[in-house]
Amino acid sequence: MRIVVKVGTSTLAHPGGLLNIRHTEDLVKVWSDIQNAGHQLIIVSSAATGLGVGKLQLEEKPRDLITKQAAAAVGQCELMYTYDRLFGQYNHTVAQMLLTWEDFDHPQRRRNLQNTLERLLELHAIPIINENDPVACEEYSLGDNDTLAALVATCIHADLVVLMSDIDGLYTADPHTHPEAALIPVVEEITPEIEQLAGGVGSSLGTGGMLTKVTAAKRATAAGVDMIITNGSHAEVLYDIVEGKSVGTRFVGRKA
Ligand code: GLU
Repeated sequence: MRIVVKVGTSTLAHPGGLLNIRHTEDLVKVWSDIQNAGHQLIIVSSAATGLGVGKLQLEEKPRDLITKQAAAAVGQCELMYTYDRLFGQYNHTVAQMLLTWEDFDHPQRRRNLQNTLERLLELHAIPIINENDPVACEEYSLGDNDTLAALVATCIHADLVVLMSDIDGLYTADPHTHPEAALIPVVEEITPEIEQLAGGVGSSLGTGGMLTKVTAAKRATAAGVDMIITNGSHAEVLYDIVEGKSVGTRFVGRKA
């Protein structure tokens, strides 16, 4: 299987912006094993800004664009250094790709990014993708990596996108405030009711919330790609996912 896995800031970093070592190490171990089993993984990783906040010892995520972009430039180094080191323990080679909306929009750039990704996969390298935050213009920025993961998946015809989030999936109501809320295991069609359930709240360091995930699911499923939302703090669920077991919420891709 060709799987795009997106992992969010709240999984990779603690609220102050320091690396969540346990989550990150667990994820890299499982990802490496899945790659060893013969699957192709493409990682879309957030946390550049979050880790930059930690590294620069800022009190909180900057509100102004320039400091936010500077923090992302610092944190992206930290992020790739960490992945390179951890994947290296399992003899895997990583490749960094920093993309913006224009890269998908412009035909030649889109072809370049497709070709590079395909070649990296042939070479058994693991592409690690993030938005190129330090140069992304605010009005054109993708803003959240849920959308980026869906764009990448449609671009390279992935079989599946997995969003590893800080929540188990989509619920019938907000589980923080409604203890009786139930997890929805399968969404066959994204109706206005489903969109309504998604609300709009994200974490303090990350960007996306459930709304961006459901919007990303719309994009992926329209292109025929399934998307699963699951909890990133349980790295091992990815084994169940590749075995086809029911985990989190699966949005079923439209079949032609
Ligand atoms: N590209 C942003 C970062 O690395 C994250 C966007 C998101 O949280 O989805 O900080």
